[in-house]
Amino acid sequence: MSFFRRSKSYMSPKRNSVKTKGLTNEPGDNNCFLNSAVQVLWHLDVFRLNFARLSGHYCFDEEACIFCAMKRLFATFEYSDKETLPPTELRESLASIYLDQKRFQLGLMDDAAECFENLLVQIHKHLVRSVTDDSCGLDHCLPHRKFGMTVIEQGVCQCGETSEPLTFTQLVHYVSANALCERLKDRQRHYRSMDPERTFGRLIRAAGSTGRACPTKCGSDFVTTTSLMNVPDIISIGVNWDSNEPSMERVGNLLETLSTTIKLQDMFDTVLDKKAQRTEYHLSSLVCYYGKHYSAFFYNRKHSKWVSIDDTSVSDVGKHWKDLARKFVKGRYQPLLLLYTNYDAKPLPVKTAPKTIELQNASVQSSPALSLRNPEIAESTSSSDCGTVSSQAVNGGARKKLMWGNVAPKRHTGHYKEPKSSDFTIYKPYPHLGSAKSGSQDQKGTSL
Ligand SMILES: [Zn+2]
Ligand SMILES: [Zn+2]
Ligand SMILES: [Zn+2]
Repeated sequence: MSFFRRSKSYMSPKRNSVKTKGLTNEPGDNNCFLNSAVQVLWHLDVFRLNFARLSGHYCFDEEACIFCAMKRLFATFEYSDKETLPPTELRESLASIYLDQKRFQLGLMDDAAECFENLLVQIHKHLVRSVTDDSCGLDHCLPHRKFGMTVIEQGVCQCGETSEPLTFTQLVHYVSANALCERLKDRQRHYRSMDPERTFGRLIRAAGSTGRACPTKCGSDFVTTTSLMNVPDIISIGVNWDSNEPSMERVGNLLETLSTTIKLQDMFDTVLDKKAQRTEYHLSSLVCYYGKHYSAFFYNRKHSKWVSIDDTSVSDVGKHWKDLARKFVKGRYQPLLLLYTNYDAKPLPVKTAPKTIELQNASVQSSPALSLRNPEIAESTSSSDCGTVSSQAVNGGARKKLMWGNVAPKRHTGHYKEPKSSDFTIYKPYPHLGSAKSGSQDQKGTSL
């Protein structure tokens, strides 16, 4: 593979050893969702090394700037002698920026995967000076060039009917834990005979392709076909669970679907770019949820071992994926964000990036970040190995695309219980999925 030699050395673990530190989470802070999101970004070479090369940005408010706060936090990761660091500045900036949307507020728990996604959205904003443009094509936009997946989606029926093709860019590809397990169960024999390293991608594709009835009333279902147009270096998979407290068996079933490598042509029906077709992506970090708490895991390539980071506590898990999987099943950890990396990623071109910190009019700061586009329930299964799905209160199988717009994202992962209304009067983080469909603000109800 001499073809990739230069880029290989750029991401080589020998050249890029990463310093690992804990992040504080004092009682009542509820920082764990942010801590986990930050830890996976810091431990992603593609993110950390490229972010370090971006010195300037458009700064909308020096007092509450995600870019400034992350730069300072990453500098302390690199240079501080302390074993644990406070994420305070980033926590406060995030709360300030999302105040209007009542998201990520101080002292309140929130969703780690959505936090991860929104940190990327904010970085995009600081690099391109825009929050509203979906078609970000700038070379130096780290979130879109390295994480963005530009997809064309179309429904196709065997009678020949097709739906309008829909083009969108996603930073995270969401899939339902339930649908994954269902597909594995449906086609057990088929998948068992396949290369185990290729089943996860195929299952993701199958899980996303549940059809709706063809409008010509031919009696068949539309099958969703997906085409990937670009070559990302990180594939972020968000897993939606229908339960906060799955059994060991359910976690085990989900883990059975996972593989430590993934190929894009397994995940999508068509992959246009030749390089994207060749690239293999390696599972390099995860965020898990257990007992109202998030923690992060990453693979240290230099020392060939999996490491767990639970706020201030950093510990080795083992050399192999099965060591980690065993821990997850035993502890009923729900993997909810999986990051697969292209180890041959090339440096981001930064020629077009801002060279200095350019202070901007603050009005853009308060602008919205992301919205849900066309959420629809693609899954109406009533039960499965991975747990019972109620078509009412579940995100299982929901297929959601994010794009720029007027409202905060609503992904309703239900990874933790909603606070009682008495301690949480303004905002409830998990509105019911059905309400997102109609765009209303209805809340999830009382699954306390
Ligand atoms: Zn700034
Ligand atoms: Zn961008
Ligand atoms: Zn048809």
